[in-house]
Amino acid sequence: MSASIISGKQVSEQIRESIAKEVQILTEKGHRPGLAVVLVGEDPASQVYVRNKEKACHELGFYSEVHRLSPATSQEELLALVDKLNRQENIHGILVQLPLPKQINEKSVIDAIAPEKDVDGFHPVNVGNLMIGDDSLLPCTPAGVIELIKRTGVSIEGKHAVVIGRSNIVGKPVSLLLQRENATVTMCHSRTANMAEIARQGDILVVAIGRANMIDGSYVKPGAVVIDVGMNRLDNGKLAGDVDYESAKEFAGFITPVPGGVGPMTITMLMQNTLLASKRLNGLA
Ligand code: NAP
Repeated sequence: MSASIISGKQVSEQIRESIAKEVQILTEKGHRPGLAVVLVGEDPASQVYVRNKEKACHELGFYSEVHRLSPATSQEELLALVDKLNRQENIHGILVQLPLPKQINEKSVIDAIAPEKDVDGFHPVNVGNLMIGDDSLLPCTPAGVIELIKRTGVSIEGKHAVVIGRSNIVGKPVSLLLQRENATVTMCHSRTANMAEIARQGDILVVAIGRANMIDGSYVKPGAVVIDVGMNRLDNGKLAGDVDYESAKEFAGFITPVPGGVGPMTITMLMQNTLLASKRLNGLA
């Protein structure tokens, strides 16, 4: 058996098309959604992410502002900018690219973003709302994971979902979202005993550990939906997931590739969050 590939690229393009249409309608009504991205320093990976976000804004018709600040920026300067953006009416989403330089406390910056403009979904208010099941801006990568599972046509309700990894930005929120979709969820982490045995019980297996190619076919239940969140840069410069794709695809029913799986969904979900935030701030949703 060889798995069907879940193309995050294709799903992402479909979602982007509908976002662009809605942005156009809102713009015609004088409510153009706007995203501000803040980059502090010169981290090369962050520069690429910020450029991609800028490009997505341009392609989908969003108003965008990119604030590129020097690596020596103080916490007070960054907080002053966040405060200004919180009050700026043409900005509906604020994203401060992480990681930040050492002199800046990341938590105090995330806490300073107005929750209704927190399109990364990292503010404690949004995290808390996700926890108790209230409306919130969802973190982008976990939201993308759920969207990809839904696109397979496999119902999440009643399934056993196994999530490997328990980070605040991926593992934990993915687990909560799967639970919200009525899956029975098991979370695994670095101290889990008999992990392959547990993973093999998963009708849905989501992997976010940051260990290149670690999860091979021996972790996969035949027919399972396998979502690989991992993005690991190998010594040869290539990108690898956390799942050993060649081995896992012999067991899985559906599987995401790396690249071209979860990756493209993250920015698309960011744009969807910005659209939603703009509608809420304008009293349209
Ligand atoms: P993280 O904060 O380092 O967390 C890794 C998690 O994996 C931890 O919970 C850790 O367990 C667990 N873990 C590590 N080694 C393990 C092992 N051998 N067996 C079982 N569990 C293990 O990483 P993250 O931020 O969640 O990111 C995970 C991966 O997703 C990375 O490759 C990252 O680049 C990628 N990622 C991709 C996107 C995207 O847009 N596609 C977005 C975010 C992250 P403990 O809690 O016990 O330490």
